[in-house]
Amino acid sequence: MSSALLGPVEVRELAERLDVSPTKKLGQNFVIDPNTVRKIVRLAGVERGEAVIEIGPGLGSLTLGITEVGADVTAIEIDSRLAAELPNTIRAMQPEAAERFRVIHTDALDLTAAQLAALPAPPTALVANLPYNVSVPILMHLLELIPGLKRGLVMVQAEVGYRIAAGPGSKEYGSPSAKAAWYGDWAIAGTVSRRIFWPVPGVDSVLVSYAKRDTPLGSEAERELTFELVNAAFAQRRKMIRQALQPVLGQQHTVATIEAAGIAPTARAEQLHIEDFLAIARHARPRS
Ligand code: SAM
Repeated sequence: MSSALLGPVEVRELAERLDVSPTKKLGQNFVIDPNTVRKIVRLAGVERGEAVIEIGPGLGSLTLGITEVGADVTAIEIDSRLAAELPNTIRAMQPEAAERFRVIHTDALDLTAAQLAALPAPPTALVANLPYNVSVPILMHLLELIPGLKRGLVMVQAEVGYRIAAGPGSKEYGSPSAKAAWYGDWAIAGTVSRRIFWPVPGVDSVLVSYAKRDTPLGSEAERELTFELVNAAFAQRRKMIRQALQPVLGQQHTVATIEAAGIAPTARAEQLHIEDFLAIARHARPRS
């Protein structure tokens, strides 16, 4: 084990010293295995000097893996005790990395464009062991907020990971999958044992990779309407879209709009790609 990363003993000692008992509410399961940390950083393809954003650094297990490869890291942490201690941990374990590390103490869901604009460079990669109960809302918020994010590697609850990476026709496919596909490609990059966490969680975890699309699928206004259609379609996923999309497209115009987009009005949400939802959005009548 390298002395530059946190192992089981160091994680527990640090938690004890800070008087931190991990809380379920904040999804605090800390990684205690340096091999897993290095695997995550390798799969993320983080480059020397690259601006990386990490959500929920906790005690710093993953953070130290990202700084170890020479990246510039901005960590977003909701827990004030953890946020306050993190710079000390980085300085103690990797003094050379202290200059290219900073922490923002906030709820990731409240992170603003102004906070990002104040960084030395806009983040191009996301690497995170996400708090499990809010992982999808956090991902959606970041994808919208940081258009320059080129790639990512996140650890999430297995069930959520399979949902994010799912394609049409599978039972896991839902609104998170369709919305995530707006931004780019998602894939399961690996599974991880529960034993690499302290405390050991009650659920399995997976690694999910993200690669941004080369060209955006559509404009911001098109994205907003497309997401409305996705929400409406999956809110009634067993119904045909000619019925499920009425609240958005209007009772009178729904069938004609769907047909104009070249989609069967009898289709169901789980059969549609994000491009199909976009095609419908593009044929929708302008709203007054
Ligand atoms: N990255 C660390 C690791 O791998 O050991 C900790 C990961 S732990 C699963 C999740 C972390 O996210 C915790 O440190 C928790 O305090 C933090 N967190 C929870 N909700 C958050 C939120 N809404 N915004 C930012 N951080 C959050």
